[in-house]
Amino acid sequence: MKAWRVHQHGGPEVLKEETLPDPSPAADEVVVEVKACALNHLDLWVRKGVPGHKFPLPIIPGCDIAGVVKEAGAVVKNWRAGDKVVVSPGFGCNACEACAEGNDNLCREYGIMGETRDGGYAQYVRVPARLLLPLPEGLSFEIAAAAPLTMLTAWHMLIGRCGLRAGDDVLVHAAGSGVGSAAVQIAKLHGARVWATASTDAKRAKAVELGADGAFGYETFVEEVRKRTSKRGCDIVFEHVGTATFEGSLKCLAKGGRVVTCGATTGADAKFDLRLVFFKSLSILGSTMGSRGELMRAMRLVGLGKLKPVVDRVMPMAEVRKAHELMEKREQFGKVVVVP
Ligand SMILES: [Zn+2]
Repeated sequence: MKAWRVHQHGGPEVLKEETLPDPSPAADEVVVEVKACALNHLDLWVRKGVPGHKFPLPIIPGCDIAGVVKEAGAVVKNWRAGDKVVVSPGFGCNACEACAEGNDNLCREYGIMGETRDGGYAQYVRVPARLLLPLPEGLSFEIAAAAPLTMLTAWHMLIGRCGLRAGDDVLVHAAGSGVGSAAVQIAKLHGARVWATASTDAKRAKAVELGADGAFGYETFVEEVRKRTSKRGCDIVFEHVGTATFEGSLKCLAKGGRVVTCGATTGADAKFDLRLVFFKSLSILGSTMGSRGELMRAMRLVGLGKLKPVVDRVMPMAEVRKAHELMEKREQFGKVVVVP
C-alpha cells in the first residue's frame, strides 16, 4: 500500500511517500480501507516533534479516519468486509478503573491513532475493532472523517468539563479552526449565547453563519465581550490559543466562570494576575480528548445533521505536505481532509 510516514521530526518534507506491505488484522482488529482522513494540529506535532516527548518512529500520522472494512480479524463479530465506518481516534486499555468508569481519556495507557500507532495517511490502516463506529447514514466519507477528534474534544470541554447550560454566555476562540467551529455549534445546540474570535472579517462572517451571536478580532475581544454581556462577562471561555489570548480569556469571565483549554497554538506560556482568579472565583480546566460515549453521542448528532463538520477543502493524500503547510498558515476555515 501507499503510505505517508514520518521517520524523523521536521518540516513537511519529512512526510515521505512510501510503499509498504498491506497490513493484516490481529484477531481483535480490522483493516480499514481509508477513504478520507482529516488533518488535525496533532498531526503537525507528530511531524514536528514535541520537546521531551517521544513518538514511536517511524509512524504514519492521521487520527480522523473514515473508510470501508476490508478484512476483520478472527474474533471480530460485529463488523465484516464492506461495512462503512468511522474510527474513534482515541483508545484506552479497556481494563483499568478510569476506562471502567467511562473516562477512557484518563487511562494511563490512552493512545491516539496516528500518534501512538499507525494512522490514516495510507491506503489501509489496522484498527482495534472496538474503535469502529458506523458511518452515519447519508454522510460522505470526507465529512464523516472531519468529525471525530474536533467534535469529541469540543464536546468534552463544553459539556463534560464545563457542564454548559442553556443561557450560558460562551466565548469560543479561533472559531475558524476545526475545534472552534465544532464548539460554536455544540454551544449553540445546548442553548448558549455564543461569542467568537477569528483573525479576519471573512472568518468572523463564517463564525456568525455557523451560529455565533457575534464575532470579534483578537485585539478587541475583551472589550467586546464586556459590552455584549452588559459587563457581566462569559460563563465559559473555550481556549486553545494559549499565550496570545489566555489573560484576555480570564478577563472575559463572569464571576464563577471557567476557562477550559485543550491547546496552545500560539505558545504554552501564560502570564496572568492570580487575583483575577481568586477574586472572581474562576476555574481553570484542562481537557484532552473525551470518552468514547461522548464521541458516540456527538456522532449521532452529526448523523442527524444537528452538528455539521466544517470542511474547508479536500485534497489528494499525495499532497499531504501541502496540506500541512496550509494548516500552519492558518488560512483555512474548518477542516482539511485528504483522500488516497
Ligand atoms: Zn484504561
